[in-house]
Amino acid sequence: MKYKRLIVFSLMIVLLVIICLCFPKKVNNKIQKGKKEDSKTYKKEELSDSRETEEISISDIKFIRVSEKEIGITWSDQKNPYVDTYYLMRRKPNEDEWKQVGQLQSDHNMQDRELILTDILEEDTVQQYEYRIDVSVTNTKKYKPVEGKSIYASNLLVCIDPGHFSGKNKIVDEDGSSYSEGDATLILAKNLEEKLRLNYGVTCILTRTTGDITLGGYTNNNLDEGHISLRGSYAQKSDLFLSLHTNANQDNANGYATDEQPVSINKTLVFVNKVAYEDKQMLYLANTIGSYLTKVNYDMQVSESDEFQSIETKEEAKSWSDEYNDQLNVPGTVCVRWGEHGDYYGVLRGAAMVNVPGLIIEHGFHTIPEVRKLALTGELLEKWAEADANGIAEGYELMKKEGD
Ligand SMILES: [Zn+2]
Repeated sequence: MKYKRLIVFSLMIVLLVIICLCFPKKVNNKIQKGKKEDSKTYKKEELSDSRETEEISISDIKFIRVSEKEIGITWSDQKNPYVDTYYLMRRKPNEDEWKQVGQLQSDHNMQDRELILTDILEEDTVQQYEYRIDVSVTNTKKYKPVEGKSIYASNLLVCIDPGHFSGKNKIVDEDGSSYSEGDATLILAKNLEEKLRLNYGVTCILTRTTGDITLGGYTNNNLDEGHISLRGSYAQKSDLFLSLHTNANQDNANGYATDEQPVSINKTLVFVNKVAYEDKQMLYLANTIGSYLTKVNYDMQVSESDEFQSIETKEEAKSWSDEYNDQLNVPGTVCVRWGEHGDYYGVLRGAAMVNVPGLIIEHGFHTIPEVRKLALTGELLEKWAEADANGIAEGYELMKKEGD
């Protein structure tokens, strides 16, 4: 009997040990399973959350120079339903810190409108800033504000005069190709406008945007002769006036046919008007434009010299003459040509009359066949515009916005 009890007791202990060993495992399993399920649900929630969180940023911004002391930043109302407040952020192109300079409450409606925030500048001196629109959102669980694209904008206003009009100063070559100074200058002006706007945030107005020109009731020929000063005075309230041209020489200069001049006649001339002549910064700007253009002409192999004779003082400006214009193997420089009433050239006199510094830029001689050929491909006009833009930017110490 005693022996039997011992067996039963031993069996009970073994059973207990088995239960003890197994049961906690089951409990643990349950806990672990629960944990796994929990983390699964959590991850699911996380996933569905990020799926629902929409990033909100304003990247379609543009600038408008409202006045010499106001720069407007505009964008579409496409994100309006999700935005609570828009913030206009500003910094100087070389600064790290952004500063909030305006804010706009959203009405949450989307009606294809342009929204605008205007930065009021402290001074009307030429300034350049980088701008961005930041937002706060209506529902932070659903929407996440992220940084949008920034742009450069300046209060600088440049008046560009594409010299002459369509078809003026035309040369038809034997191969049938036809170059007209009045057509080339329009392409050049449009290229320059785009580069100044996109790269530097500079606003331009043009005396003409088509082949024809109409100002003050006059058109084409009238605005190339008797009433040409109207082109210059159109620059009223601008910071700078530029009349874009390609140069020519006297008939059969240097013993070559008029339109068959050698590359060695090529040089860049930048004429300054009375107002620019008295302004050191404008003389510097004339130097930088001339230097960049000379480099382009040399690099494109339509000039034999890479030297532009920069000037330090106004007295060093060259009095222009036909002899200098036609001379072979001489560098280009900053020129003046005075007449009875100040500036000889009506276009520069017009700008001077409204107290605007003005330049005539003679980019290169279209009487050189190689220049005409390269201009007609568009390549030279593109490079000239880039040189003009870079020269202006350097003259005003503007930074270039790199693509992002
Ligand atoms: Zn011209």
